[in-house]
Amino acid sequence: MAIIPFDDRDGFIWMNGALVPWREAKLHVLSHGLHYGSSVFEGERCYAGRIFKDREHTERFHASAELVGFTIPYSVDAIIKAKAELLKANNITDGYLRPVAWRGSEMMAISAQNNKIHVAIAAWEWPTMYKSDIKEKGIRLTMAKYKRPSPETEPTASKAAGLYMICTISKHAAEKAGFDDALMLDYRGFLAEATGANLFLVIRGELHTPTADCFLNGITRQTVIERAKALGITVHERHIKPEELALTQEIFLTGTAAELTPVGEIDGQKFTVGPITKQLMGDYSQLVRSHASEKAA
Ligand code: PMP
Repeated sequence: MAIIPFDDRDGFIWMNGALVPWREAKLHVLSHGLHYGSSVFEGERCYAGRIFKDREHTERFHASAELVGFTIPYSVDAIIKAKAELLKANNITDGYLRPVAWRGSEMMAISAQNNKIHVAIAAWEWPTMYKSDIKEKGIRLTMAKYKRPSPETEPTASKAAGLYMICTISKHAAEKAGFDDALMLDYRGFLAEATGANLFLVIRGELHTPTADCFLNGITRQTVIERAKALGITVHERHIKPEELALTQEIFLTGTAAELTPVGEIDGQKFTVGPITKQLMGDYSQLVRSHASEKAA
């Protein structure tokens, strides 16, 4: 199947307050966001026409911008309204949304105090079907060369474009070596996360997940912790050493795009897609389509 490039599609993109034809949603090559990484974004999903955790994602979008030193010039409510208009205009019921904000072109140097903040939101159809082989066998990970940086090095709680440079490098290296994704350690050498999803381990029937103190505390991660506790599963948020993988029975990743993705192997070490992973996968896919998710949002 031919891939349709993302700059050559039909429909509308919300840009700086208005819906514009998809192909006309452009920025200039001399944009601060492109040269200096002054850009933040979101990744959201809608199920049956409803955005899961709509407000949480929008609040994080604002918080990400503040952490890199700029303010999104549209309120949380205005962005929520824009997303609803966009889904309607593009006739999307099960899809992915990508809000992005970046510094414009008024100044092109490290200092860009007065640059306009641009905001765009795109959305495209993305049905939520697990590939059955992944659901049964899980994906294969390899250790990344780069580590998640210390919060003293970067604003690690921001979903800032710049923080993804090492993710793309690591993901490409993993794919070239025949794996699906890379597992990143943190700056201290503890397990951190994959290149675009958080990490959970099942050890003797209990859930363990790295403390989100130097990487994105994913909205899916927070949801899964809450749901697991409600289902009576003990959850430990703690620093986890890579050696503990040897004691681990099940592993899965969480994220808006990944939902719950089981891991079948890390560099030759095998894991089963076991009962807790399966239970939480089922629970999550029910939750995102239920009215409960709307109330929780
Ligand atoms: N970590 C990284 C690096 C990510 O890109 C994502 C996806 N946004 C996550 C974790 C998971 O976050 P969420 O559950 O909010 O999508």
